[in-house]
Amino acid sequence: MERMELPRPSLLRVPDDPVEVDQHFMAMALREAAEAGERGEVPVGVVVVRDQVILARSSNRCEELADPTAHAEMLAITEACAELGEARLSEAVVYCTLEPCFMCTGALLHARVARIVFATRDPKFGACASLAQLPADRRLNHRCPVTEGIYADVAGDLLKAFFAERR
Ligand SMILES: [Zn+2]
Repeated sequence: MERMELPRPSLLRVPDDPVEVDQHFMAMALREAAEAGERGEVPVGVVVVRDQVILARSSNRCEELADPTAHAEMLAITEACAELGEARLSEAVVYCTLEPCFMCTGALLHARVARIVFATRDPKFGACASLAQLPADRRLNHRCPVTEGIYADVAGDLLKAFFAERR
């Protein structure tokens, strides 16, 4: 896959401004996504953060593991819970380069995450904004705020470039 110019995380420190914090961690998730694209996976990356510390970073591994559930979010949840030795990710913020699907949104809500941040929408499977708004659904026993649009263009371009190359 052709290398794209990615936004840089503030390398030395996490910024103070909340928007810059989101950009900082999303820039890291975009790096995971680009790396997945280089491995021939759909370029989606995720970073799980708590108290501004990264608990897990992962990317899509469906092809490698021959597993349709090996989405970046699922792998990140497992890794972050293992890191904490806990079955919940309370207070964690999850940065996803693509809007989480139904499976992953369900898993994130089971994990009781504090907030979901995603870059670009997935009109074909997105369950946070596009096809459903599960994190805001009052029928569920856990809900969380969603922030969208952080580096949406970059994440979208990564996906477009990946699929254009496959055609
Ligand atoms: Zn998913």
